[in-house]
Amino acid sequence: MTTVLQFPHARVRKPGEPARELGLGLLAQTLGVRRETLSGHWCSRCNGIWYGFLLEVTCPVCANRHG
Ligand SMILES: [Zn+2]
Repeated sequence: MTTVLQFPHARVRKPGEPARELGLGLLAQTLGVRRETLSGHWCSRCNGIWYGFLLEVTCPVCANRHG
């Protein structure tokens, strides 16, 4: 079972304001997995994207778990 969020193309952002890169999720950092195996997750609190391994759902910057 996978519940990976869609890459947030549909999210509304201010024009000219690129998404922030928030880095890797804690699990991804711990395992040292390759970037290609990670999934992008949107954090609405940080207004940016972080990359997590499998079912990681927690933003590494603010610990937001709700996208
Ligand atoms: Zn966040």
